[in-house]
Amino acid sequence: MNMHVAGAVAPSFDVANRLEAFAADFECDHPTLILDIDRVEEQYRGLKAGLGRAHIHYAVKANPQREVLERLIALGSHFDAASKGEVELCLSLGAQPHQVSFGNTVKRARDIAWAHEHGITLFAVDSAEEIEKVAENAPGAEVYVRLIVEMSPGDWPLSRKFGCDHDMALELLDHAREHGLKPVGFSFHVGSQTRRAEMWEPVLKVFSRTWAAALENGHDLSLLNIGGGFPAFYGEPIEAPAAYAAGVMELVESYFPNVPRVMAEPGRGMVAEAGVIVAEVMLVSRKSDRDMHRWVYLSIGRFSGLAEAEGEAIRYQFLTEKDGEAMGPCILAGPSCDSADVLYEKRPVMLPTSLKSGDKVLIRNCGAYTTTYSSVCFNGFPPLGVHIL
Ligand SMILES: *Cc1c(COP(=O)(O)O)cnc(C)c1O
Repeated sequence: MNMHVAGAVAPSFDVANRLEAFAADFECDHPTLILDIDRVEEQYRGLKAGLGRAHIHYAVKANPQREVLERLIALGSHFDAASKGEVELCLSLGAQPHQVSFGNTVKRARDIAWAHEHGITLFAVDSAEEIEKVAENAPGAEVYVRLIVEMSPGDWPLSRKFGCDHDMALELLDHAREHGLKPVGFSFHVGSQTRRAEMWEPVLKVFSRTWAAALENGHDLSLLNIGGGFPAFYGEPIEAPAAYAAGVMELVESYFPNVPRVMAEPGRGMVAEAGVIVAEVMLVSRKSDRDMHRWVYLSIGRFSGLAEAEGEAIRYQFLTEKDGEAMGPCILAGPSCDSADVLYEKRPVMLPTSLKSGDKVLIRNCGAYTTTYSSVCFNGFPPLGVHIL
């Protein structure tokens, strides 16, 4: 969209769409995420087209912004909630209880009871104790057992912390049934930002054996929850949502033929590309005259929205008005007085050599895992309280 006519026009951002064009002109005092709700709808429609018969349960934690949820409710989306706060939010905006699953495998007993009273009937579990909590506080509910993904193909793996292995999963189905629950199936998360559909194959293959073993054990399974992992564009090529989702569903149908219910929980893939952050350069400096790299300090860092730069796993893209000029590597850091607040150092970022404090910076595709990682209300949990004696 940017016209590069030598010397004729003032420098401007090389924007890719309406959202970025708006962000380029947007004035703000603090770093601000700009969200394009029509773009969320576009992603939803693309994912839905590819996922076909699977139900979409949008992973609310990716971006619980009211306008995002309202649009998705209007489109008929279902929701994956991580906490009582997220369940409450979805219901308060008009989602029906049958459209909301309580997908965290670590829930407080009283939150389970609250959700049950409010009509939620589908819960995730990955341990015996959690099953007992659900049985006591949501008697008769449907549960699915989360399986652990040992070798995640995603750029932001969610392995280790959640899920259980094949043998335990089979035991848990029995355990749930003995406690009067309805064990309906399995869930997993392939790992966030799994860039290509074919990367799902080994995971689906392994879990199809667990599914078959459960059927053999006499469990009448009906639900496969394939979780999230749908990617966003951060510089490395990815397929469009419809093609990607269709590729995943093709694998699902081949490894799980005739599974009655499939659900998917896209988070990042739904909202990341619907958001741009407007920030600014606070300082450009060197540590010595011989320093090879400039340090560029932005007005936003790991503690104010860019938490996913952790381990340099998610590599955000930065736009400036000087991008056509000479470029050089720099270490990119956030503004806080915490030395861990460095975004990219192992693999420096290329930015214009003339960059200086006050220059506006747009950060592309930031609609997921930014606002709530900005230290308030992540997952819908209220922020850390303070009590003065
Ligand atoms: C976070 C999460 C998701 C969303 O993952 P994405 O990689 O953002 O799509 C889906 N399901 C569960 C259970 C989650 O915790």
